[in-house]
Amino acid sequence: MTKSNLPAWDLTDLYSGIDDPQVAKDLEQYNKLNQKLADGYKGKIAKLEPKNFLAAVKLYEQAGIVASKLGIFAYLNMVTQMNNQKAVAFYQNINEKMTEYGKNAIFFTLEINALPEAKFKALLKDKDVAFYKPWLSKVRLFKPYELAEDMEALLADKALTSSAAWVRLYDETSAKLKYVVDGKEYNDAEIGKLMQDKDPVLREKAGKELNRVQKENGELFTFIYNMIVKDKAISDEKRGFKSPIASRNLDNMVEDEVVEALAKAVQAKYKSIAGRFYKLKAKWLGKDKIQYWDRNAPLPFADDKAYGWKESVDLVLNAYNEFSPKLRQVAENFFSHNWIDVPPRKGKRSGAFAMPMPSPYHPYLMLNFVGKQNDVLTLAHELGHGCHMCLSIKQGDLNDDTPLTLAEVASVFGEMLTFQSLLRNLDDDKAKLCLIASKVNDMINTSLRQIAFHIFETKVHAERKKGELSQERICEIWLEVMRESLGDEVIVDDDSKYIWSIVSHFYHSPFYVYAYSFADCLVNSLYQVYRENSVPDFANKYLTMLSETGVKRYDELLKPFGLDAHDASFWDKGLGLIEEYIDQLEVLDKKLG
Ligand SMILES: [Zn+2]
Repeated sequence: MTKSNLPAWDLTDLYSGIDDPQVAKDLEQYNKLNQKLADGYKGKIAKLEPKNFLAAVKLYEQAGIVASKLGIFAYLNMVTQMNNQKAVAFYQNINEKMTEYGKNAIFFTLEINALPEAKFKALLKDKDVAFYKPWLSKVRLFKPYELAEDMEALLADKALTSSAAWVRLYDETSAKLKYVVDGKEYNDAEIGKLMQDKDPVLREKAGKELNRVQKENGELFTFIYNMIVKDKAISDEKRGFKSPIASRNLDNMVEDEVVEALAKAVQAKYKSIAGRFYKLKAKWLGKDKIQYWDRNAPLPFADDKAYGWKESVDLVLNAYNEFSPKLRQVAENFFSHNWIDVPPRKGKRSGAFAMPMPSPYHPYLMLNFVGKQNDVLTLAHELGHGCHMCLSIKQGDLNDDTPLTLAEVASVFGEMLTFQSLLRNLDDDKAKLCLIASKVNDMINTSLRQIAFHIFETKVHAERKKGELSQERICEIWLEVMRESLGDEVIVDDDSKYIWSIVSHFYHSPFYVYAYSFADCLVNSLYQVYRENSVPDFANKYLTMLSETGVKRYDELLKPFGLDAHDASFWDKGLGLIEEYIDQLEVLDKKLG
C-alpha cells in the first residue's frame, strides 16, 4: 500500500530488490546458458537431429525466460521512480550486461533461418519440435525475401547511415521542438493535452501554435520523410516485395486484400460516422462547425463524477463476471496478489500499460489512477491485456507472441464490457450522453482516423516512386485525406496542412497505423456477435481464442464465431456498432433539447 492507500505492485515474486543476491546469480546463469548454446550448437544447427535441435531450442527458451525476469524487473522497478538514480542505473547496467551475454545466442535464429526448407520440414515432423512451430515459422517468415549474406551485411551496416539515421534525426528534431502558449513553454506531448482542455480559448491557442511550429520545421520534415520512404523502396525492391505495404502485412500475418477491404469499408463510413458525430459535437460546443483542435474537446456540460478505487475494481470485475465468471477469476489475481501499481506519484511514468512475463511468472499492470471515468475504462483495458497474457502464457515463452492486429482484442473487449455496465448504471440522460460521446470520440480516433493516416501514407509511398515529393504536395495529400475523413462539420484550414509531420509512426514504422483500426473493428465485430447471442458458449470460445493468439492466425481464430474477415461485410459489422452509438446520441440529444 502507498500513502494514498491505493495498491502498489509487489515485485518480490521476481527479486526482493536491486540488492537481492539472486540478481547476480541470474545474470551469471543467463551468461552460462548462452555460452552453453554457442559451445554446443554454433555452426551445427543444419546437421542436428530433431532430439538435439529440440534441446537447443529449449536452452534458447530458458535463457529468454531468465532474461525476461531480469530485464522486466529492472524496468518495472524503475518506471515508478524515474527520479531514483540507483533504479535507473540498475536498469541500464542489467541491460548492458544482457546485451553483452546475449551476443553468444545471435547465431541461433540466423542458422534456423538458413536451414534448407526440406531440412526444416523434416525437423517439424518430430512431435516435440512441432510444438515450437508457431515460433519457428515466425523466425523464417522473411526467408523468401532474404538477400545474399554479404548484401544483408552491407544493408545492416548502411542502415546506420540511412534509414536509422533519418529516424534519429526526426526523433532528435521533434524532441527539441518548443511550443509557447501564453508565454509558457510546452513539449509535443503537453501541447496535445492543451487541445483537450475545457477552455476553448486555450485549445485554439494550442492548435495554432502547433500549426506554427510544424510549418517552421516543415522543410526539414519533408526531406526526412522523402528519404525514409525512398530508403524503404530501395530495400523493398531488392528483396522482391511487390508493394510498399507488403512487408508490414507479412509481419502482421494479414493479406493485402484484407487490409484494402478494411480501408474501403472505413472510408465508406466517414459520413455516417464522423460526419454525424461532429455535427452533434459542434452543437454541444455551441458552434456551427468545429475546429480540428476541438475534435477531442471535453463536453462543456460534462460533470466529472469521481470513482473510488474499490468502486472501480468492483465495477470492472462485475462487468467481467457477467460475461464470464472464469474471466473474473483470472482478473482477480491482479488485485489479490498485488500485480498492479495504481496511484500516480512523483517520478512515476505517465500513462498505463500491461507487461507480459513468461511462465512461471505472471504479468504486471501499471496505472495512474485518479478516479475519473476514463480511469475506470483504462483499468478495464489494461486488465483485459493482463487476462489475455495470463491465458496465453501456457504456449511457452517463444510461441506466445501475439501480432499487433490481435494484441488489443482482450483490452478493447474488456473496456466494452465495462462501458456497457457503466452505461446501464446511469439513469441521467445527460450523463449517458457524455459517456457515449466520449466512447464514440475514442472509437473514431482509432477506427477512422488511423485509416485516414493509412491512406495518407499509402498515397505518399505510391507517389514517391515517381520522384521526390515537394512539401506542398505532401501537405496537399494531408489536407485532402483529413477533409475527406473528418467531413464538412470540421474546419480543416490550410494552416493545419503541416500536421502530418507529428505522426511519428510514419517515420518509425511505415504502414503500422492500420493495425489500430484493424484491431478495433475486429473486436467490435466480435462484440456484435456476442450481443446477438448467436454463438453458443461464446464466453468459453472467447477465452480459448485468447489463449491461442500467438499460435494461430486471425482468420482461424475468428472461425468459431462465424466471422470471416475476407467477407466484405465483416468490417461493416464492427463499424455498425459505432453508428448505433451515434443513433443513441441523436436520440438523447433530441430528448435533452
Ligand atoms: Zn492496449
